[in-house]
Amino acid sequence: AFRFAGPLADLSEYAGAIRIAGGDLRRLADVLREPAMPEPDRTAPLTAPGRIELDGVVFGYRPDTPVLRGFSLDVPPGSVTALVGPSGAGKTTVIRLLSRFWDVHSGVVRVGGADVREQTTEALTAQLAMVFQDVYLFDDTLEANIRLGRPEASDEDVAEAARLAGVDEIVARLPEGWRTRVGEGGTALSGGERQRVSIARALLKRAPIVLLDEATAALDPENERYLRRSIRELAQHSTVLLIAHRLNNVVEADQIAVVDDGRVVETGTHRALLEADGAYARLWRASTSGRGWRLTPG
Ligand code: ADP
Ligand code: MG
Repeated sequence: AFRFAGPLADLSEYAGAIRIAGGDLRRLADVLREPAMPEPDRTAPLTAPGRIELDGVVFGYRPDTPVLRGFSLDVPPGSVTALVGPSGAGKTTVIRLLSRFWDVHSGVVRVGGADVREQTTEALTAQLAMVFQDVYLFDDTLEANIRLGRPEASDEDVAEAARLAGVDEIVARLPEGWRTRVGEGGTALSGGERQRVSIARALLKRAPIVLLDEATAALDPENERYLRRSIRELAQHSTVLLIAHRLNNVVEADQIAVVDDGRVVETGTHRALLEADGAYARLWRASTSGRGWRLTPG
């Protein structure tokens, strides 16, 4: 069973807001709700707010092709944890399991101390803010796209989230400023700019946990600067699990987990992992030699 993947997955946590908004958005919500996961009537007690745990997780998109092969990771509340590793290792898949787009074959995924299968969609999505690699924006104004994070937020809070994520700079060069419609899927903006809007949304939501899959398309120094500032800001209130391609964001993390072939092969701080001289040290050397910036190719 699955919910939705790809660009539309980014919208899943906003299904409630979409329903209220009506019109085109209501039709979209109907599409999103279609392939529902079996869901309990009530949520098990959340005994560890802000904590993420994956324990011996085995999962594949097709039964004969395992992608995660005994994946275990503990992300302490309030920490910033970075996942690094080669393309195809399973990093994005981990984020999809945390937001329960799919269920594990074996093992367990806990968010806030409870198995995600024992939580209602509402309870789970209230705990998570998600920033995906490919960000989908509604064909609406920039402001409306950010406000989805917390529809009842004050104008001041929306403006502050936009400023922290660097969206105000985008606004300044758009013909109609805040009133500019960003186009279906946000095509009026670059990949890096769309990700900034999505980060502003996450900042506004103030969820206990933020899952952030860095866009590889956003490698320019300006986006890099805003991303780093946003992560620091998000970390003030939330646990942050970051799939990182950039060295700066990894070096500053409380915990780095190196993912290879569907498993965590190493965890530690930047300093400890360099001293251990294992998989992380090899990635680091490869990414700092030559033209490399990036710890992962994709
Ligand atoms: P990473 O984020 O580390 O690059 P992913 O989690 O995206 O890795 O992918 C892990 C593996 O799962 C890859 O082999 C990829 O081709 C496969 N995969 C990812 N998404 C899907 C999907 N929707 N359907 C089938 N296979 C997928
Ligand atoms: Mg990925």
